Amino acid sequence: MPSEAVQINPFETAKRQVDIVCDLIGINGGIREMLKYPKRELSVNFPVRMDDGSYRVFSGYRVQYNMARGPTKGGIRYHPNVTLDEVRALAAWMTWKCAVVNLPYGGAKGGVICDPKHMSPGELERLTRRYASEIAPLIGPEMDIPAPDVYTDSQTMAWFMDTYSMLKGYSVPGVITGKPISLGGSEGRGEATGRGCAYVIREAAPHAKVKVKGGTVAVQGFGNAGSVVAKILAEEQGAKIVAVSDSRGGVHSPAGLDIPALEAHKAKTGSVVGFAGTKPVTNEELLELEVDILIPAALENQITPKNADRIRAKIVAEAANGPTTPDADQVLYEKGITVLPDVLANAGGVTVSYFEWAQDIQGFFWTLKEVNDRLERVMVSSYAGVQAEAQKRKVHNRTAAYVVAISRVVDAIRRRGVFP
Ligand code: NAD
Repeated sequence: MPSEAVQINPFETAKRQVDIVCDLIGINGGIREMLKYPKRELSVNFPVRMDDGSYRVFSGYRVQYNMARGPTKGGIRYHPNVTLDEVRALAAWMTWKCAVVNLPYGGAKGGVICDPKHMSPGELERLTRRYASEIAPLIGPEMDIPAPDVYTDSQTMAWFMDTYSMLKGYSVPGVITGKPISLGGSEGRGEATGRGCAYVIREAAPHAKVKVKGGTVAVQGFGNAGSVVAKILAEEQGAKIVAVSDSRGGVHSPAGLDIPALEAHKAKTGSVVGFAGTKPVTNEELLELEVDILIPAALENQITPKNADRIRAKIVAEAANGPTTPDADQVLYEKGITVLPDVLANAGGVTVSYFEWAQDIQGFFWTLKEVNDRLERVMVSSYAGVQAEAQKRKVHNRTAAYVVAISRVVDAIRRRGVFP
């Protein structure tokens, strides 16, 4: 995969994106510096008892990037390749993402270096509870509210919420989002990232001269984000999903994939690979297929200067965080490809996380229809704001989204002033 071949530090990418926007809108001096440093970082090394009775020390992080607009918000990732710089970058992107969709939040992110695929449920529970207790001093409904990310799910969030509640002595559902419904989770949260991405694709398609109905789609990464956007595009917008992949490889069928059957195959075998009636496709080949819509929904640094020239999609909708490097971005822009940047395209997840938090702290819950209608309103108006900025400034959508986001964060910093 390009991620292994090209070692790009995601935090360097994140800082470069800030510079591009600050140059464009004339933000200099101390405020620009503030946008390029995480406000607060916690590194923890903690022991976990493994099933064989031995103890292993794991390293984890929580980075709170900027809290000018409110409490910080961002997921927790379990992956062997987690680094502090990756968590910093993801925390920066959360700051811009919350601001693009105008949520009253700053951005944060957490990560633990571990290989969850080779850990038992018991080991994962003990790791989660200990990590939660290590970062608990910096977490809370009014301070920093984590959520799921790669290889963490609603069960992980439940353990986290229980651990935090045990430390406090009372139940605190609003400390974390992406929880099971029975613990104060929101209707629609599980599908929110994919659903939000599908709304943004629908809104952008006419501008990109793409017909979603009957249009072809390739999805890299068939997890929470990728499988849902594939399903919604197919079921609700009539698109033809022709290729999907996961960490083990991909499948391609020009006639279109039966997504519910593919989901069943993945549930049974653990991978999309080997799905009946399909040809195998590598993750690199999938990115270069001639499709209307390409959805990177796995990891960062997938579209780089090495392969950007060979991308043939009309729309690249970034369900994943940071899948396109800045140099590759420029290539895609020059090729006339419409990029729907991560901070907008996958903001549905954090938007419904915000709805979940709002419901938890009110103790008053909404129906699925209320959640989805509100999500649709947020995504439609956020896309319109970004698109208007792109047209006004004649820049690509990522820069426009950053202009919208960074302008909002800068306004908050200026109005608050610098303490003391
Ligand atoms: P997930 O763990 O549910 O799914 C990840 C998918 O990517 C899996 O299918 C996995 O097999 C695949 N994958 C892993 N390594 C791969 C590789 N090297 N090549 C190809 N595929 C690979 O995670 P998710 O929650 O769907 O997150 C995916 C992306 O979406 C991440 O970038 C994440 O930050 C972003 N995202 C997720 C949410 C959310 O609510 N879940 C919200 C915003 C952004």
